[in-house]
Amino acid sequence: MRSVEDKYVEWERLVREITNCRKCAISYSRKNPVPGEGSLNAEIMFIGEAPGGREDELGRPFVGAAGNLLTKLLNEIGLERSDVFIGNVLKCRPPGNRDPTEEEIDNCLPFLIRQIKLIQPRVIVTLGRFSAMVISRLAGIRFRGITRERGIVRKITLFGSEVVFLPTYHPAAALYKPPLLDSLRNDFSTLKRIISGEVEDKTTLDSFFR
Ligand code: URA
Repeated sequence: MRSVEDKYVEWERLVREITNCRKCAISYSRKNPVPGEGSLNAEIMFIGEAPGGREDELGRPFVGAAGNLLTKLLNEIGLERSDVFIGNVLKCRPPGNRDPTEEEIDNCLPFLIRQIKLIQPRVIVTLGRFSAMVISRLAGIRFRGITRERGIVRKITLFGSEVVFLPTYHPAAALYKPPLLDSLRNDFSTLKRIISGEVEDKTTLDSFFR
């Protein structure tokens, strides 16, 4: 177990390395890198896809329209942003908010792995298909697409530690397709039940029939 000081030193090192990283072309087009933010001792880690326009301007994750929805969903289950850690698969904005490429994901993955090892969350909530795919890959489990996987709670092993994995939709998807908001809310109430210890591994009927 690392001390708070050690964690902070590693975090500062990570931010410096992310800031200086020039592996991808998008590191030259971005305005600011977005390493992520929140508690380094968080029990819950949210992982999105990549910074958008507002995040690129401010160097902070989920601060645009999708971020406002994420903050609202957190508040609805009694959490503040500062209670959790919020990060992304990519730390730089892909121009025009296009999808991340496989090469960009591979280049940026070591940073995400170090963040997971640093924070050692009990629960990982992925937002959208890219982060769900990446965590499934790291855990060596099959990913059958976000529509089938969302809302299913699984215990996975990541770098030797047991983690509760809950994939859900990206909040931006619910802004474009309002019916998805109900599923997103449902998944946040599942998260609330995970936190309270009510749900550990939801291999339940509703997931079974999806
Ligand atoms: N979408 C993401 O996936 N991440 C952000 O930080 C903002 C929007």
